[in-house]
Amino acid sequence: MPPKLSPNKNWTICESNIDRGKMRFQETIFTLGNGYLGSRGILEEGYKEGYAGTYIAGVYDRSKGKSFELVNVPNPFRVEVCVNGKKLSVDGMEIVEHRRILDMKNAVLWRHTVFKDAVGRYEYDSRRFFSLRDMHIGVMIFSFRSLDGDARVVVRRAIDGTTKNKVQAVGSPIKHYSVTQTSNSRDGVLYLEAKTNDLSIVIGMASGCDVVSDVEARAYADRESVVREVSFNAGKGKRYKFNDYISIYTSRDIKHDVKTACINEVETAKECGIPRLLKCHARAWNRRWQYSDISIEGDLLAQKALRFDIYHLLIAAPPNDIDVSIAAKALSGEWYKGHVFWDTEIYVLPFFIYTQPRVAREFLIYRYRRLKQARDRAQAQGYKGALWPWESAASGEDETPQSWVNFDGTVIPVYNPKREHHIASDVAYGVFLYYQVTGDEDFMLKYGAEMIFEAARFWASRVIYDRRLERYEVRRVIGPNEFQECVNNNSYTNALARWTLRYASEFYCCLGKKHPRKLRTTTRKIGLKEAQVDTWKEVADKIIFLVRPDGLIEEFEGYFARKDVTINEWDENGMPIWPSEVKLAEVKETQLVKQADVLLLLHLFSEEFSRGVKRINFDYYEKRTTHKSSLSIPSYAILANELGKTEKAYKYFIQAVNADINDTYGNTGLGIHAAALGGAWQIAMNGFAGIRVKDNTLGIIPVLPEHWQSMRFRIWFKGTLIEFFIPRDEIEAFIVKSRKGVNIELYGQKYFLYQGQTVNAKKKNSV
Ligand code: BGC
Ligand code: BGC
Repeated sequence: MPPKLSPNKNWTICESNIDRGKMRFQETIFTLGNGYLGSRGILEEGYKEGYAGTYIAGVYDRSKGKSFELVNVPNPFRVEVCVNGKKLSVDGMEIVEHRRILDMKNAVLWRHTVFKDAVGRYEYDSRRFFSLRDMHIGVMIFSFRSLDGDARVVVRRAIDGTTKNKVQAVGSPIKHYSVTQTSNSRDGVLYLEAKTNDLSIVIGMASGCDVVSDVEARAYADRESVVREVSFNAGKGKRYKFNDYISIYTSRDIKHDVKTACINEVETAKECGIPRLLKCHARAWNRRWQYSDISIEGDLLAQKALRFDIYHLLIAAPPNDIDVSIAAKALSGEWYKGHVFWDTEIYVLPFFIYTQPRVAREFLIYRYRRLKQARDRAQAQGYKGALWPWESAASGEDETPQSWVNFDGTVIPVYNPKREHHIASDVAYGVFLYYQVTGDEDFMLKYGAEMIFEAARFWASRVIYDRRLERYEVRRVIGPNEFQECVNNNSYTNALARWTLRYASEFYCCLGKKHPRKLRTTTRKIGLKEAQVDTWKEVADKIIFLVRPDGLIEEFEGYFARKDVTINEWDENGMPIWPSEVKLAEVKETQLVKQADVLLLLHLFSEEFSRGVKRINFDYYEKRTTHKSSLSIPSYAILANELGKTEKAYKYFIQAVNADINDTYGNTGLGIHAAALGGAWQIAMNGFAGIRVKDNTLGIIPVLPEHWQSMRFRIWFKGTLIEFFIPRDEIEAFIVKSRKGVNIELYGQKYFLYQGQTVNAKKKNSV
């Protein structure tokens, strides 16, 4: 039997009426996907505010003089139903019932709507999903019923090639493709082919329908879409059901004959039938959840919200070998043009490292494959080594637009590619964390070592020596806090540069001892001399890090001298209210901070800073951080928890985990906040569960929110899948998969965990 709608409310997100103010928001929330593509949760018939957005990972295109952006490809889900000549639509009819449910467990979107006109009521139901088992297959099942009388019905099922990238921060909508072919075969399979403007990527979409009895069917195409039209006289109360199979391929997937691939795939899917497709899809999802779920007892709302975040991370995870990474809005919208930022390595990657290391590895290889462009970019700016782009798409060139809209709607120039250089270390940090958690030496030998050496080389060339002060400086940068766009010695940047240089030189020594031949090949390949490496440690030791004797870190040089403005009011979601005396254009003159900067550093390198240092910095920066980016709150939540401010940590967690569900930033309609999803996961895992890896050991010191009865989750550590159950002041751990044992540390007590054994540890002082 195909899976029914998950009965458990903790696995579903519901919409129970049409709220015109929230149409775009709901589309983002209800995005479906399988990593190969993502498709926004539109109402199939279209409506005034409707934004049909379907995006295929890695399919970018550009218009003259502009940067590449993720292409909004043709819409595969268009369905129009006309009853007695009138279209069922939320724009022109009364809605007497409406419900949509996203079943996150099985990744299926359900819909039930009853429309009404002067003559009667009409029911339209649908269910759709993109298969996780076969990434090229989508399914849409829909049905129609005339509830109050007989009716003449025309159903138009279309692949719609009129979509555009309409959401532009600056400039007008762009259609990135043209339709090159439309056809319908004798057995009723529709086909539409499009080609992108600049790179000529071919996108093929086919749709086939199970034949329904008692209907007249015809298919036709106009210039930009292909339509199957079905007409029938609907008897009162009789349900007419359509099973639609969709297939999508691009010339990135297969070199020849995209059309044949699409049509064959639809035929195979039809033979397979909906129940089996659905069953395989649900099984694949079940497996994903087994590795990814965090189950919380005692907090239904947090449970559901966290699953929502994990669902959106999972639908963004690319299948094997398609050479892409996750964009700031994943595949749920076009904002930020589908570009990949540092968000991926610092915020999103940890989730994948611990739950699906294979996917995490692919993200890092995506950066590795673009090392050449990163080297060229460093060189173009006068440096050595590798500087990955601030915004990256398919080619690895920097795709950051030259202008952007500020929060107040003004158009501003963008300096980030020239100055936001911490990206070099963020990528290196991703490599480091991946290696630390997985122990994947093969990755390091093939890719990681080179990436780390090149990042270190970049910093060795980027620093400037001040002879008078006898220190290295990093001048003219933008730190994570982008309010100040040209500062010297941003502490986050300097600390990460210092860490990168140290880690690279340690890794170099280590490789020399363990794999001298491999080290020789790598250094020869990139022309790295030992003398260069010798300077790395020395430079690192002399990079200035601005910290007062009491431990307060200065965000950048001169920060404390800027006008001191603090936050004194918060809105109903607990978000800071902008101090009215500060104009946006003048914010750079103040100590107001856009997003966690020093605090992020304290989270990433938690072991290196004392509790006292964390406390003083938390107290100082909390009052000055406006959280104008969704990347901000997670560090605050994690630090608060570590400092024993449990209630505050929970409050921050609730804000982070609900960032999209509550539309906290007011722009969820433009796409999901991928970094916030990963950040929420980090709060749960690095915060409440207290997971940290140190010296080859997985340490865990949980501090759960007061009302949580327990947490249960599985994570991979060095090739071993471990399940943890935390009934508040106790930890139970056992190995789910692997023949090897691993070192773990529970509440500071070391254990070697063997296969088949369950370790229990109690928090000291607890009974
Ligand atoms: C972001 C920058 C980005 C720019 C252009 C701004 O909102 O803060 O990081 O480079 O948009 O995409
Ligand atoms: C943040 C950046 C982030 C970008 C994309 C900006 O608002 O300031 O740190 O990389 O959004 O999410």
